[in-house]
Amino acid sequence: MGREDDVMRACDLFAARFSWPHAVHGWASGRVNLIGDHVDYQGGVVLPMPIGLGCGCAAGPGGEPGRVRVASTAFDGVHACDGRDAMTPGLGVPIGHWASYAAGVVAEIAALAGREGEGVDLALAGSVPVGSGLSSSAAVEVAVARAVCGLWGVELEPMAMARLCQRAEHRFAGAPCGLMDQATAVLGRSGSLLRLDCRDGSFQHVRLPDTAAVFVLDTGGRHVVADGAYAARRAAAERAAGALGVRTLRDAEEVDLSGLPDVERDAATHVTGEIRRVEAACDAFRAGDLGLVGRLMDASHASLRDVYRVSCPELDAVVEAARAAPGVFGARMTGAGFGGCAVALVDARAAGGFEGAFRGASECGLSRATAFRVDGTSTG
Ligand code: ADP
Ligand code: MG
Repeated sequence: MGREDDVMRACDLFAARFSWPHAVHGWASGRVNLIGDHVDYQGGVVLPMPIGLGCGCAAGPGGEPGRVRVASTAFDGVHACDGRDAMTPGLGVPIGHWASYAAGVVAEIAALAGREGEGVDLALAGSVPVGSGLSSSAAVEVAVARAVCGLWGVELEPMAMARLCQRAEHRFAGAPCGLMDQATAVLGRSGSLLRLDCRDGSFQHVRLPDTAAVFVLDTGGRHVVADGAYAARRAAAERAAGALGVRTLRDAEEVDLSGLPDVERDAATHVTGEIRRVEAACDAFRAGDLGLVGRLMDASHASLRDVYRVSCPELDAVVEAARAAPGVFGARMTGAGFGGCAVALVDARAAGGFEGAFRGASECGLSRATAFRVDGTSTG
């Protein structure tokens, strides 16, 4: 599984569904966030890394003139619509439909390049588990953006591509996501963390020390981000920023939160504390202090669980199981929460035994849980 396999399966699917060869292909990675969740939409700092599992997209000019057609190995059938209808959210493809993520990106690029109403055929093949907090949606969007930009000869700066994909997810999929996922899919480098400042879009690559291994812990449970719980947290954070008179909670670091109503105070407490933890984790990574990074990850999980309340019993259980294994610096839920995956930072010398130890510790009641290494190094 990974880039070559995703692309090959996308090209095979294209030939099978559309009966003619594709013209171009693109690929993009899913991501795991080491620390900094539910802060990207408040101008915060995040520290994700690409995971090597991603999405391949094969594309060609429409075999049916003026129509946008999307196929995926993950879903049955081909979604087809008029290219002009596809320009309007909800008209060519229902909002939130699996094909809306790809068709939305086509529409955004078409609007930019003056190619509205043009036909495109797309075939997708992903290896990121869907709805697990590893950002299968941004992998789809950026893979489509790369393929369609190649097809139409459109040049986009990396951050412009990330913002275009984010806009497509907002408008066409109806998911009010932050910028982290799309930016990591565009800018991420295997084996490096991406320190991304979501207030101004600036970023640096922070090399993961050789002494560290990163594991994803998959609970096997799935979430739907378009669900109300994510939007409700986001709205509470926005109300808190409004009440404090700041544009985003990033600008509320030194502000007294005690006068806020409970829900808004919890939102502001989590977001401001989490941004401080991310900054401290970046410094600790650079200093090689993995023990401190691990303690910050543990504190992040506690805040997401107890203050922002976006964890769930399965996530808490895999985090506890990981912490019980030898050589683990820290563990926390990752992504939007409510199910999906957690992440563990492990001493590289203990990486070989981690999966077995995790399985042993998670046996009671967590039969679907799995752990896999994602920092680009095989456990051998
Ligand atoms: P996450 O990004 O954490 O995996 P989301 O809910 O944000 O979860 O996005 C999942 C949605 O993205 C799926 O429900 C589907 O609509 C779309 N998607 C993801 N992977 C694929 C794929 N391989 N083919 C088609 N659509 C996909
Ligand atoms: Mg997503």
